[in-house]
Amino acid sequence: MSSLPASAAARDLYVCSACSTLSRAGEGPQRCPRCGGALNFRKPHSLSRTWAFLVAAIILYVPANVLPVMHTEWLTGSQDDTILSGVLYLLWSGSWPLALVVFIASISVPLLKIVTLGGLAASVQLRSTWQPRNRARAYRVVEFIGRWSMLDIYVVAILAALVQAKALAHIEPGPGALAFAAVVVLTMLAAMSFDPRLIWDAQSDAAH
Ligand SMILES: [Zn+2]
Repeated sequence: MSSLPASAAARDLYVCSACSTLSRAGEGPQRCPRCGGALNFRKPHSLSRTWAFLVAAIILYVPANVLPVMHTEWLTGSQDDTILSGVLYLLWSGSWPLALVVFIASISVPLLKIVTLGGLAASVQLRSTWQPRNRARAYRVVEFIGRWSMLDIYVVAILAALVQAKALAHIEPGPGALAFAAVVVLTMLAAMSFDPRLIWDAQSDAAH
């Protein structure tokens, strides 16, 4: 374990998060000598912020899936669809590739992000030294899929265009859509708040 490469923090060096300048740690709060940005060894309150965003995302994941995300109105009636009923509708109407995309983007990905980030935060909280490389990889995957989180918004847009072109229908987003958008934003904030360097801190602490 002693062969573990030393981090900048272990050598009392700050790395500016804005311009990557290295500077030696001194007394009190410090600013970057080059760009003036605030310097911290790790993202401040990383764990508590990650937990707060995650808990909010978990709470809103329920209305996002239970409340209707889409309200369709046409001449003879109206219909409310949740994410799942929308997926089933797509499946029955024969467009299974679209159903699969909506299912993955709207149901699996947010859940997977919440579970992965929760696991990462819990492992750091418990100062786990278990498979840091794989945990770091898991974080990179969450960050990567974060960029595609808004995919289903496009799917809804395409869907709305399809339905409106087919029939004299009018589509409006339901309250579930707002909860869903909040879940997407909250999981993004949770991923941004998490400091992956914390995964390695338990490792170097165990070595000393
Ligand atoms: Zn700087």
